[in-house]
Amino acid sequence: MLLTDSVRNIKGVGEKAEQCLNKMNIYSIADLLEHYPRDYDEFKPLQPISSVAEGEMAAVEGSLSARPQVKVRGRLKILSVMLQDESGSIPVTWFNMAFLRNQLRMGTHYILRGKVTKKSGRLVLDQPKIYTRQEFYRQAGRMRPVYPLTFGITNNAVTKALETALRETEDLAEYLPAEVRKRQGLIGYKKALKQIHFPANQEEMREARRRLVFDELFLYQLALSYIKKNGRSRSAHMIEPKPEAAEFLDELPFSLTKAQEKVYEEILQDMGDGYVMNRLVQGDVGSGKTIVAVLALYQVVLNGGQGAFMVPTEVLASQHYKSLSGLLSERGVRIGLLTGSLTARQKREGREKIVAGDWDIVVGTHAIIQDNVEFAELALVITDEQHRFGVRQRESLFQKGQEPHVLAMSATPIPRTLALILYGDMDLSVIDERPADRLPVKNCVVNTDYRPNAYRFMMEQIREGHQVYIICPMVEESEESDLENVTIYTEELKDIFPVSVRIEGLHGKMKPVQKDEIMERFAQGETDILVSTTVIEVGIDVPNSTVIMIENAERFGLAQLHQLRGRVGRGGCQSYCILMTGQESKDAVERLSVLAGSNDGFFIAQEDLKIRGQGDLFGIRQSGDQLFALADIFQDAQILRQAGEEAKAFTEDEIVLLYRKNYRLRDRVETYLGKVTL
Ligand code: ADP
Ligand code: MG
Repeated sequence: MLLTDSVRNIKGVGEKAEQCLNKMNIYSIADLLEHYPRDYDEFKPLQPISSVAEGEMAAVEGSLSARPQVKVRGRLKILSVMLQDESGSIPVTWFNMAFLRNQLRMGTHYILRGKVTKKSGRLVLDQPKIYTRQEFYRQAGRMRPVYPLTFGITNNAVTKALETALRETEDLAEYLPAEVRKRQGLIGYKKALKQIHFPANQEEMREARRRLVFDELFLYQLALSYIKKNGRSRSAHMIEPKPEAAEFLDELPFSLTKAQEKVYEEILQDMGDGYVMNRLVQGDVGSGKTIVAVLALYQVVLNGGQGAFMVPTEVLASQHYKSLSGLLSERGVRIGLLTGSLTARQKREGREKIVAGDWDIVVGTHAIIQDNVEFAELALVITDEQHRFGVRQRESLFQKGQEPHVLAMSATPIPRTLALILYGDMDLSVIDERPADRLPVKNCVVNTDYRPNAYRFMMEQIREGHQVYIICPMVEESEESDLENVTIYTEELKDIFPVSVRIEGLHGKMKPVQKDEIMERFAQGETDILVSTTVIEVGIDVPNSTVIMIENAERFGLAQLHQLRGRVGRGGCQSYCILMTGQESKDAVERLSVLAGSNDGFFIAQEDLKIRGQGDLFGIRQSGDQLFALADIFQDAQILRQAGEEAKAFTEDEIVLLYRKNYRLRDRVETYLGKVTL
């Protein structure tokens, strides 16, 4: 098998598995090999029940001390039993596995292995697997990969496919220049791939990770220095400021902050100087990036061009579509929405409007950049929350239009030094000020005992006409427990709050249309409490919400928490962020208090960097930075610098030479910068 072969060539991967893999953007063997574990399951030996701790995968052996019971919650059936050994006992729960009830017997010994969680203040063994002695001891001591999954495919199936692919792929040749590898003390590529998927121990995993992270960061920087050396290209789109835009600005209910004005100026300057703009606007959550984008788009339309506004989620796409329509439709601007969830017919009609120039602005998700979308006169591409798009995707848009200007907007608080490396090919603008009417969000870090108070507080805010978010973490065991989490929580809340309080749940497994309806009702103030996973993390703007409570806040990265908190404090009213911790480790509290002590995303990012240091490799992935599969620019800052030194040592000619004689390296570089033209 070759890297470019379809995953379907792997023995055991049938049509259904292939579809699931495709859903995760895995098409070729190479894609699969780069589908890295998100964690490892270390099969630790059996332990006494009294010694299990929250958050770990624990294996215990014991017998039932009471008959199994089934409770019904909404559409879910929850089976619970009590397991005991000599040291103590623990409740065990399973969802929708009621059939187990008749299989479990009093008096029999069972080995159960599952996640220990805390529910209503008690440790519980959640959804454990049942093992025979023989099965259990066969696995003990091994590190098994845990892969990101999608509905319809199991971890086991992905593991098997990877085992086969690693064994049978023939062209896993080394592509890093030998001197670089030697200087940096990196293991070989093939070995690294084997070890990242199936390490014998922690040491092997770290060694493999270091090599692969280095690759990503090295190739990326090599790509950057190549682009940079090629300089800015001339633009076909000269955008001249038009008076209608100034009128529009005058009619807004607010005036721009100084920082917004400055950035708007920079953008106009860039788009009017005869060269292609490639600018990144960084601005903390709530700093008002959208209106700047809208102004730039309007100018482009007034100059006869088209604009594309790309966002990472469907929910955000429809929000932006509505707010853009609200602002610009009556000024004669024709705006369209193009997302993956539209029907084939709607998409086709959308594409026709775009190519005919009947839409001036198209708002959408990745669907916009698919190959069959052609623009009549694409002059500006804006990507909101840009870190979700890679350079490659940007580039593919670039190839579509007639060299459009590119404006990326990001709330990811990256310290300037890192930003200069990561976005080295772009000009940087910063919106470092928030609209003046904003009160800083008030924060508190509390444990679960505080929950009743929190609910009372929310009730007061709701009575005053405000709205509330409650965020549940995704329980990662399977995608379904994510669903259960939000669903159960929503049901429980309905029992706690008076019936007059309107509560809805939102999670990633819902159909886009359904998510959209729920978001729309919340935006219209028809819902009081929105229980959600982090699907609402980016960009959502409902200024009337004043409280956000985050359950199990310790499981999130600080940057992500800061994003979540950014959902409140967007209007003139005092807002509150309640960080609820399920686990009272000192580290967790220390980390969270950084957040509670500051509302400045850049400061938080820096503190987070200090606290985390090296160490927790797979703990919490910061920033959802999808540009790299493994590398985390915060945690791997040191490798980023080393890789940068190595990349810098290559002259442009040497880079070209390297691309020519090393097609694998060139392929890989192209994932970052699009087609290399030599
Ligand atoms: P973000 O930078 O997080 O994307 P948004 O662009 O969504 O923030 O803006 C947050 C809120 O602030 C929006 O409701 C927007 O209408 C409002 N806003 C933007 N600029 C100003 C301003 N200069 N004065 C007052 N409100 C503003
Ligand atoms: Mg935004």
